[in-house]
This record gives sequence, C-alpha cells and structure tokens, in this order.
Amino acid sequence: MTLIAIDAGHGMDTPGKRTPPFADGTIMKENEFNEATAQYLSEALKRNGFAVVLVAPEKEDTPLKTRVQRANDAKADAYISIHANAYGNGWNSANGIESWIYDKSNADTLRLAEDIEKEVTAMTKRRDRGVKRSSDLYVLRYTSMMAVLVECGFLTNLEEALLLTSQSYRKNCAEGICKGICDYYGVAYTAEKPQQQEDCCPKRYEKVQQLPYGREVIQMLIDNGFLQGEEKGNLNLTLDMVRIFMVLYRAGVFEKEQKTISAKSKKSGKKTKA
Ligand SMILES: [Zn+2]
Repeated sequence: MTLIAIDAGHGMDTPGKRTPPFADGTIMKENEFNEATAQYLSEALKRNGFAVVLVAPEKEDTPLKTRVQRANDAKADAYISIHANAYGNGWNSANGIESWIYDKSNADTLRLAEDIEKEVTAMTKRRDRGVKRSSDLYVLRYTSMMAVLVECGFLTNLEEALLLTSQSYRKNCAEGICKGICDYYGVAYTAEKPQQQEDCCPKRYEKVQQLPYGREVIQMLIDNGFLQGEEKGNLNLTLDMVRIFMVLYRAGVFEKEQKTISAKSKKSGKKTKA
C-alpha cells in the first residue's frame, strides 16, 4: 500500500505566519489552514486506498527534523507539506497556487508536483504559479522520498485569505492534492460522497411503535384497513408520509373513523388531540 506522509506546516505558536488583521480585527494563523487541510487530505487519501502518516500532529511547532525523521522512519513513498503563502507584510495583490520541490529532485518528483499543482489549481480555480525548485527548504532536502510543498494561496491577499479561512476551500485544496497524487499513481480518484445522501434516502419506519409521532392516526388507518403495509406487515413509512396522513386526519378525511380513535383512547386512558 502506498504510504503518504502529510506535513501540516508550522504550528499554532509559530511567530509571523498569519494574515494581516481582517476588517473586524481578527487574524488567521497559517497553521489553522495547514492543520485543517492536512486532516481533509488524510481522509481523502484513505478514501482512495492510500495509507497515511501525519508527521506533525502536535499543536505546537514540531521541529522540521522530527517531521522528516518520522517520514523517513515510516518509509513513506511521498511527502506532502501543506502551506499558505505570504508576500510582504500588509494586504497586496500577490496571489495563486505554487508547488515546490528540491532543486536536485528527479523526474518522478517533478511529475508528482506537476500533477498536484494542476489539480489544486483546477479544484480551487486559483492562478497557477507553477512548480518551483528550491535548494534550501529543509523538508524537501532531507526527506528520502519524493517531497512536494504546496502553497495553497496567499495569506496576504485579502480574497485568498478569506478563502483560506473557509472549510470548503480547505477541502477543495485537500481534494486537489489527493487528485494529483491519484493521477501520479494511476489511481481512479473517488470523490467524497455527497452530503445530501441522507436527505435523498429518508429513514423508513416498519412498525407503529417505532414512529416518533402520529402513532394513533397510523394505528387507526391500519385498524380500518386503509393502510396495510407490505407482505410482512412492514409499514415502510417515512415521516413525510406520516405527516401527510396526520394532515388528512385533521382535515376530517377519515371523520367516520375518529370514533375508533376516541374509543381506543378511552380504553387506554389517554386523551386525543383531535
Ligand atoms: Zn508556511
């Protein structure tokens, strides 16, 4: 199984590495973005059949040496370091996505970085600043596997800084990185299952006793043969259906049968809100 080391750049206490103050006076630390995106990337990679090792899960700033050591010890196949960029001190117009590799990297590392750069820019619709080479980024230089550092937008660009604070943008960055890794390894990328799945497949209730409300009305419909359920007597009712029956009941559609409910309620000593 291919093992990917994920490095959430910096720590919460790292000096600098934050946005200028937003209009409301708050700031966002770079590590907030890096940490959240690392978690999303971990989920995305596992979903796509990769194994994952988080090399900087601590809140404080894990030393670069420790991060690299963990990846080397785990014999990871690739190392991904997640960052957000900065230019100058205040807000300015520098923007876009860039990926970094060690300047003596081989063709495989370059291809992995290009795949990641392509997919992150496609997913985020930000400017593609390309793949760049560096001789002095520690995590690129001392890792013994392919290593790519991704700068997912500028903390010093107001538009991108606001995006960097949002969970949906963080997710898009993570899915983009995951897609790039899938491209490189020839894995067919699997996206996250859409969240509305629950809405499209509402819970079904089989027995009257299981219903959270509307039991008396449904029981009356059964007693009078209006509702028969499926072969095994399972009702297969959604709560939307129960509500419709209750509305029809209040509208007097089953008026003749209301006596049945009242009679039953009297027997059991309960009152009916008719
Ligand atoms: Zn950084």
